[in-house]
Amino acid sequence: MITGEEYVAARRAAADLLVRSGIPLQAAERERIEVVDFGLGNIRVEGLQLLTIFETGRMAGRILVMTPDQTEPEHWHSPFGQDPGKQEVIRAYWGEVRFYLPGEDTMERGFLVEGKEHLYTMRNEIILEPGDTLVIEPGSKHWFQAGEEGAVFYSFSTTVRDASDGFTDPGVVR
Ligand code: ZN
Repeated sequence: MITGEEYVAARRAAADLLVRSGIPLQAAERERIEVVDFGLGNIRVEGLQLLTIFETGRMAGRILVMTPDQTEPEHWHSPFGQDPGKQEVIRAYWGEVRFYLPGEDTMERGFLVEGKEHLYTMRNEIILEPGDTLVIEPGSKHWFQAGEEGAVFYSFSTTVRDASDGFTDPGVVR
C-alpha cells in the first residue's frame, strides 16, 4: 500500500509527463489517472500510472505513463472462459520503454529490481522508441521498464481483466 500523499504525487508526476509528451489531456482526465503499485508499496520502483481512454467490454485503450526507471512487475494475461487472454498492442509515444519477453538473454539497457532478480525471469530485451509498435500475445510473460526520462505509451487491447493477470511476484495484490 502507498500513502495518499504518494498517490497524489505519482498522479501529478504522470500528468506532468503526459503534458510534456504532447498528448492532449483534459482537466477531468487528470483526476482519472490511476496509480497502480501492485500492492508492493514502492511506487517509484515498481508500479505505473494509467489513464483509460476507452473500454467497451470487448476492447480497451489506455495511456500508460511511467516515471524514470519505474518498472512494471513481470506478469502474463491468463485465459478466461472462451477468451485466450488479453492480446495487447503497445505503441511507444514519448521516452524510452524497455520490454522483456521470452527468448534469449539480450538484456543490456535495463536493470533488474534490486533484491528481486529472481522475480524478473524474462531477459529478451526490446527497446521501444517513439513510433515503435509491439504486439504481446496472450499468455506470454512480460515486464517493462521506463528509460531514465520516463515513458508515455499507448496500450490497445482486447478485454482487460487485470484481476486475473498472473504475476511472478507472489507479493503482488491486484
Ligand atoms: Zn501486460
